[in-house]
Amino acid sequence: MRPRIYKSPYLSIARPLGGVICLLVWAVVGFAGQTSRVVVRDDMRPAHKTELLEKLRAITGWRELSFDRNGFLVTGEVDSAGSESARALIASAIHGNQLIVLEDATDRADVAFCRVVPGRTTGSSVSPIPIFVVLIDFRDFQHVTGDARARAAFDVGWGFLHELDHVVSQSKDAENMSAAGECEDHINQMRRELGLPVRSTYFFSSLPVKTDPNFITRLVRLGFTESDPSHRRPKHYWLVWDAALVGGIDERSLTALIRSADSK
Ligand SMILES: [Zn+2]
Repeated sequence: MRPRIYKSPYLSIARPLGGVICLLVWAVVGFAGQTSRVVVRDDMRPAHKTELLEKLRAITGWRELSFDRNGFLVTGEVDSAGSESARALIASAIHGNQLIVLEDATDRADVAFCRVVPGRTTGSSVSPIPIFVVLIDFRDFQHVTGDARARAAFDVGWGFLHELDHVVSQSKDAENMSAAGECEDHINQMRRELGLPVRSTYFFSSLPVKTDPNFITRLVRLGFTESDPSHRRPKHYWLVWDAALVGGIDERSLTALIRSADSK
């Protein structure tokens, strides 16, 4: 049976006008003279900044990666450990031709894990370079359970890098359920450099188990694979979460589910 597929937790850049985010003037004025073009909004919770930095340090090997006192991402000393491809991506973003703003989108219903949208300034200020806003729902990642190997390959650091690759590399997501897609292919290369499983597909699918009809849950799963020299077939790992909590499912399907539950 063909599993139902849903939107990926990582959405593409392409967004209708309604997805454009208006930024305060500080976003434009603030980056003048800065050596980094990746900045975190000052209202992101400190614990979330720390969580994101710790994940990115583990991936890149940049142990001094941090936000400076103005919120700009700086790398510190070069470290030989970690993923070289991830370091190259972040370095390209820091020295790129666009401003990338990180925003805390925790508990927002319209954000499943991470999303990147175009940004623009308010008022009469005009940005001399394009602005992109990476929205991060930190709580969504707390809802993920599953194999430890796959969880190491899917956290807020990986989610951020996925969005960064959309902006920097202008990469696309997969359009069919059997492929990882151009963007995740780039991210999978980073996972390989760290000896982690790779994401098999871009889309996640419904978990083939029955759930209590009295509770509105939408358990979904996302597969990862890892080649095993001692076996002919690769190892498979799964992540599972409730898409009714995280989002990313078709609202019409959720409405249908609620009606179904009410009718019983
Ligand atoms: Zn994407």
